[in-house]
Amino acid sequence: MDYKTQKSDAEWQAALSPEAYRVLREKGTERPFTGEYNHFEEQGTYHCAGCDFPLFESTQKFNSGCGWPSFWGELESANIEQQSDHTHGMKRVELLCSNCGGHLGHIFNDGPPPSGKRYCINSVSLKFVPK
Ligand code: FE
Repeated sequence: MDYKTQKSDAEWQAALSPEAYRVLREKGTERPFTGEYNHFEEQGTYHCAGCDFPLFESTQKFNSGCGWPSFWGELESANIEQQSDHTHGMKRVELLCSNCGGHLGHIFNDGPPPSGKRYCINSVSLKFVPK
């Protein structure tokens, strides 16, 4: 994939916290119920923590109880890429920032109506921009 924002591993490591690097660049997962935005209800926009690309609106956030910030929809479908992920013995769909390729989380089909989707996102992959 040719992403608009491209950095070497060393550049990403310098730009991100160790935890953000592990999640965004190494497809890690933050521990549930520990993320900054798990319980967070301010009004604004959630951007990619790697490249500042806008990804979600606070109006799309809901409390899923799963331990990670959850959204039922995304700002622009072109801004988030989906990829099938068969790691850890599961069949999942991974979500990536389509501007930098950063790992965001996964999408599941157990969200609220009308979309029925749950975008399960690592807090550390996000940067909140208040309205
Ligand atoms: Fe990004």
